[in-house]
Amino acid sequence: MTVRVYIGLGSNLEDPVAQVLEAVEELQMIPDSILVARSGLYGGKPMGPADQPDYVNAVVSMDTLLSAEDFLAALTRIEDLQGRERGGEKWGPRIIDLDLLLYGKAKINTPDLTVPHPGIRERDFVIIPLAELAGDLNVPGQGRLTALINKCENHSLKKLVTA
Ligand code: AMP
Repeated sequence: MTVRVYIGLGSNLEDPVAQVLEAVEELQMIPDSILVARSGLYGGKPMGPADQPDYVNAVVSMDTLLSAEDFLAALTRIEDLQGRERGGEKWGPRIIDLDLLLYGKAKINTPDLTVPHPGIRERDFVIIPLAELAGDLNVPGQGRLTALINKCENHSLKKLVTA
């Protein structure tokens, strides 16, 4: 049985729109998985250190037969392929960041994986594109997207590319 997963994408280095679109292409190569939909691409102010370029963010939905752990490993491989450097400052600039936001309705808490991604509730640049694909989804343990959007930080999102 396939599981519906949602992936958050973000980039603020080396042509972020192209980086996000390249990652969407790569996501389509993950085995035993198919792309369902991509949200629009949004530009927004950085979270954390302000002395870095603006971000481009999007969300993609997929159906997969992979376990959550194997799916995360596939995301990490794509980040590596696009030249993501690790060990920089938290919330510092990055070529590509891929987060496993949701894995069906699962709640997972292991040293390597927390699902639903704990940052969803704080991030308009995740909630808004996620709502494009999933409507008023209930994020297990966090609440409905429409309620979350009223409480999260504003990053002055602007839609750059439609879905
Ligand atoms: P970052 O790339 O900065 O978002 O952090 C990646 C690290 O977060 C990896 O070592 C993952 O094991 C860990 N992690 C925990 N939960 C998640 C998740 N839901 N999605 C992506 N990475 C996660």
